[in-house]
Amino acid sequence: MSATATRVLVLNSGSSSVKYQLLDMAAGTRLAVGLVERIGVGAPPACGGETSRHIHTPLAAGGEKRETEGAIADHEAALKAVAAELAADGLGLESPELAAIGHRVVHGGLKFTAPTVIDDAVLTEIERLVPVAPLHNPANITGIRTARALRPDLPQVAVFDTAFHTTMPEHAARYAIDVETADAHRIRRYGFHGTSHAYVSRKTAELLGKDPSEVNVIVLHLGNGASASAVAGGRCVDTSMGLTPLEGLVMGTRSGDIDPAVTFHLKRVAGMSTDEIDALLNKKSGLVGLCGDNDMREIRRRIDEGDERARLAFDIYIHRLKKYIGAYSAVLGKVDAVAFTAGVGENAAPVREAAVAGLAEMGLVVDASLNAVRSGEPRLISPDHSRVAVAVVPTDEELEIAQQTYALVNA
Ligand code: ADP
Repeated sequence: MSATATRVLVLNSGSSSVKYQLLDMAAGTRLAVGLVERIGVGAPPACGGETSRHIHTPLAAGGEKRETEGAIADHEAALKAVAAELAADGLGLESPELAAIGHRVVHGGLKFTAPTVIDDAVLTEIERLVPVAPLHNPANITGIRTARALRPDLPQVAVFDTAFHTTMPEHAARYAIDVETADAHRIRRYGFHGTSHAYVSRKTAELLGKDPSEVNVIVLHLGNGASASAVAGGRCVDTSMGLTPLEGLVMGTRSGDIDPAVTFHLKRVAGMSTDEIDALLNKKSGLVGLCGDNDMREIRRRIDEGDERARLAFDIYIHRLKKYIGAYSAVLGKVDAVAFTAGVGENAAPVREAAVAGLAEMGLVVDASLNAVRSGEPRLISPDHSRVAVAVVPTDEELEIAQQTYALVNA
């Protein structure tokens, strides 16, 4: 790598989208951000006239957003479109200033406990994990393959959503099922959103003026997907997502915790297929299943209008959150801070207020006026005297991936 190579391109390849950011690690700036969505859609009228869309914002070059619509057939075409947009601003992939590409990879199993430079063997290992992450790893792999084909000489790094959780003790990670069956099929709690839990728990310690090793934090990552983690002295000791991201909190479209026998019942009594049950629990449950909306803004608006279904969905969401705060307080023994993050956690003051309401005995209190403040900065929303700090800490998974990537290629 050349001494002047200080840029990192972060790629988050989903099944039908690629999100990306180009960061300059020396200057601490973001040079471009963008999103290619609806990849593979582009055959109107069969698709209702919808087609792929590419939104690109060259922050370094004045920040004027560019939006293009038109069929983008696959991830290879998407990455080529990204490369072309970056090149238009003199930030192309061939630039000697590009130090590395950091890929978000959802499932790293037990093998990947840290960011890893990608070679053929690593790629094969990520492929071996497809059976435990069929909805996520294939798209990540396609993104990696395409990016390697575009810049075969450039270091490419995989940053795993599961890595931060690999410190969980066996008693938290194992399900209480037959050990041989579990091991044969690699069934255990892996946890996800790890880059966010890592970043937010560290930032929370910083906000308290402490080293991460000195504090115990409960992180509540509440986006469309949602997960909680218990972080003791900088190490994850438990997290709510499991073998897949379906377990745990109530999410936008996922049920979270459910009696596993519900799935047998749906199969035997309702005659549903495995794929139908999978779709029901992952895509048609959670807030959307309960009230038809998964956007917390819309749910709050409906509650204000007296909508009972929206109210019940909100109450179920909050009840589950409280259960995890309680459970992780017990797991940690002593809690220094509870940190709210991601779309809902950062923006929805009523969720934060309701989640800690009635928990004063546990040292958790929210100050109404601090909670009402809107800001993009990490901040405390608990009064000075409260035993446990309650914080809002905006997450930044791209920055975390870029930092881990840059640190590894400079090591
Ligand atoms: P993901 O990355 O999982 O797609 P985000 O972390 O971006 O999700 O969170 C998206 C969710 O955040 C939306 O579905 C919505 O419920 C919630 N959200 C975003 N902005 C607000 C807001 N101003 N008030 C309340 N909720 C919000």
